[in-house]
Amino acid sequence: MSVEQTIIVIEDDPNIADLLDTYLRGAGFRALQAATGERGLELIEQHAPALAILDIGLPDIDGFDVCRRIRAKGALPVLFLTARDGEIDRVLGLELGADDYVTKPFSPREIVARVKAILRRGQPPAPVGASVIHIGDDFAIDLARREVRAKGQPVALATREFDLLAHLAANQGIALSRQQLLDGVWGADWYGDDRTVDVHVRQLRKKLGDELALATVWGIGYRLG
Ligand code: CA
Repeated sequence: MSVEQTIIVIEDDPNIADLLDTYLRGAGFRALQAATGERGLELIEQHAPALAILDIGLPDIDGFDVCRRIRAKGALPVLFLTARDGEIDRVLGLELGADDYVTKPFSPREIVARVKAILRRGQPPAPVGASVIHIGDDFAIDLARREVRAKGQPVALATREFDLLAHLAANQGIALSRQQLLDGVWGADWYGDDRTVDVHVRQLRKKLGDELALATVWGIGYRLG
């Protein structure tokens, strides 16, 4: 696999952007920089990137709005750069479907590791045998195409939300702890904390709750305190 994947770095601090640029290129990615949100959206439109690294404090529109506009167009993975606790809470609390976040100051190596982890998740090996998990009559998770359908209608999920749902569905009948979910969905190399699991489960409930009786999955698989 020798095709370079493009990463868009949307960050107005040139020192940080250059640093990320250097490390991403060193890891074999093609990196493109945008110092404003609007420019970032343009680059995303033009270059079909594999992922966007998105700062929240930008000079024109903030990272949350950029993410909303990215989400309105498709399923591009987004790694947020956050500067303050308040921003982390918003990243986790909003229904933006951020795929991950890193808090400043960060090590560029950590960013590269996160980027690789997100991209790995986005390209699961094609499963052997049945790749569609059906729950009841109305609900289907297509693992190969990464699509969720409720009563025949597609449900838009962020990368991690999909992974979490697929993991829960694949483990029906097994009670999973938050730590098991973190390990199984986020991976053992993930540094974050438990509340990330809670937030993603909440988002899934919001998106899917009305669509189906998810008791099958939620009741057995996971309980939020
Ligand atoms: Ca900034």
